[in-house]
Amino acid sequence: MAKILIVEDEVKIARFVELELKYEGYEVEIANDGRTGLDKALHAGVDLVLLDIMLPGLSGIEVCRRIRLESQVPIIMLTAKDDITDKVAGLDMGADDYMTKPFAIEELLARIRVALGRHSKVVNEVKRDILEHGKLELNLSMHSAHYGDDELTLTKKEYELLEYLLKNKNIALTREQLLNNVWDYEYFGDTNVVDVYIRYLRQKIDDKYGVHIISTVRGVGYIIKDEK
Ligand code: CA
Repeated sequence: MAKILIVEDEVKIARFVELELKYEGYEVEIANDGRTGLDKALHAGVDLVLLDIMLPGLSGIEVCRRIRLESQVPIIMLTAKDDITDKVAGLDMGADDYMTKPFAIEELLARIRVALGRHSKVVNEVKRDILEHGKLELNLSMHSAHYGDDELTLTKKEYELLEYLLKNKNIALTREQLLNNVWDYEYFGDTNVVDVYIRYLRQKIDDKYGVHIISTVRGVGYIIKDEK
């Protein structure tokens, strides 16, 4: 379950929200001033921050600004009054949402769920840096290539060429385009190198698995295209 940090100097409010959150199954951390709040937001492994604006010492706005220098953790600001300046300042500093006190706990819980959901989606997009084509799969963060369950042993250039072809799937790429985007400048002009590396890739994938992944576009270059 997600861990939520409550940064709130009014002890009664902090306690009330803590009990409600725990009842919902969340883990809770509490900070009663801005500095402790900032420290816990960055170092206590929290998934969301409820941040009061009116805090002694470091204001909520300043805490928000400093969190955002280092972290994208979702932040919901809590404003004591219906002060539009505070809300705008909080959102400007990168807060995800705000609530005006006094608030209904159900509404706070709903906004927490939204902020957590939105965040996990972003995380998934970042993690999902995988290029696929049939059974062929490149994992860009791992810099690995698989065909089905087999890990492919590709050289750095073979991998980069395959990555470029997959990123531009269904587009016919000229040898010059491939050379300029995959190779260092010293190869410029010698497009034979592209044909050589395409042959290596075909040996390691197409020939080995009896498939046809990299197609030649006569008079142009190469393409990986989805089957119709
Ligand atoms: Ca306060």
